[in-house]
Amino acid sequence: MLLFPSLTASLLACLSLPSPPAATDQVLGPVNRSGLPQTSLRAHHSARMSLPQHQAVAGGDRKQDDGGLITAYLFEHPQGRVLIDAGLGRRTKMDPKDYPGPLLIKALGEFRMGDPTVTALADLGLSGDSIDTVILTHTHYDHIGGLEDFPAAEVRVTAQELAFGLNQPSNWSEPLARANVETFTFDGGTYGPFSRHHDFFGDGSLILLPAPGHTPGSTMVLVNLPQTSVLIMGDAAWTEENWAEPMPKGGLPRRVFDSDWEQGMAALYQVNSWAKAWPELVVLSGHDAGNEDKLPAWPDALH
Ligand SMILES: [Zn+2]
Repeated sequence: MLLFPSLTASLLACLSLPSPPAATDQVLGPVNRSGLPQTSLRAHHSARMSLPQHQAVAGGDRKQDDGGLITAYLFEHPQGRVLIDAGLGRRTKMDPKDYPGPLLIKALGEFRMGDPTVTALADLGLSGDSIDTVILTHTHYDHIGGLEDFPAAEVRVTAQELAFGLNQPSNWSEPLARANVETFTFDGGTYGPFSRHHDFFGDGSLILLPAPGHTPGSTMVLVNLPQTSVLIMGDAAWTEENWAEPMPKGGLPRRVFDSDWEQGMAALYQVNSWAKAWPELVVLSGHDAGNEDKLPAWPDALH
């Protein structure tokens, strides 16, 4: 839901949002798909939760609760199976209070655990050991809780995000601390509106983009499939309003959960301009219930 323009204008004035970053001279939008490999993308939601609109977006309706999803994505590539975020795992299924903890569960209200990511993979005949790599958009528990169910996987984050993730309270950092982690750097130049990127397989199919602000090493993932492209924003945006307006999260959440929300506005402006220049791009915010309308239901895939 878009906010009224007048409300947006007055909110912008009192928030004094940082200005958009300087545009790069790179051509925005659609990719050349002729050389891309055969790949697929699936989304599994391991939990649902309450997400009051005024917490998700500054100026949002206090009475409206759009609900939220906790999601892991399976990207199948000829060189390996990749999860983008791990969602929540068996440990949380055994004890749903494990996440988010007794204090936060009061603030979040409803939290309903579904199938852990690893359990859902069985629908495809896959075991946890068949996952080669887990790329993390960031290291908050709702994105790494399921890591323990993929002991054979190599986990990929930036060094900055790894340091941040290991510095969280021990019950939240434990899945990361136990994982086999390899860091990556944004070693490529401009890509769309971004000044740097990392081409994970080197063939243009999986592009990692820097989006610091929610956490210091937050990363977005552009998945270039043979027929379409999907941008997985992680929690750079919780809901569509965050990047479509663009507008930060609500006052208290952005101060509690974002490490630097003003820095995080850069990615929101960048995605906003990219989506305007590239209307076919499927943009998925971190916890937006509307993501379900943009993707086939598990276990169906996008190609
Ligand atoms: Zn999250």
